Amino acid sequence: METKSTIECPDCGHVTTETMPVDSCQYFWQCPACETVVKPKDGDCCVYCSYGDTACPPKQ
Ligand SMILES: [Zn+2]
Repeated sequence: METKSTIECPDCGHVTTETMPVDSCQYFWQCPACETVVKPKDGDCCVYCSYGDTACPPKQ
């Protein structure tokens, strides 16, 4: 199972590699660069499914 995801801030484009929680979905993520709190797009369970390059562990 892949627990690292590279997530791109939809606001400023900052790219960060994060470790995802393995037993839950992360609904909120705060960009370390611009401090925007990012939420998933409609229909996605977590920010990694919307903006990351790897699906979240519950989906894997
Ligand atoms: Zn940002």
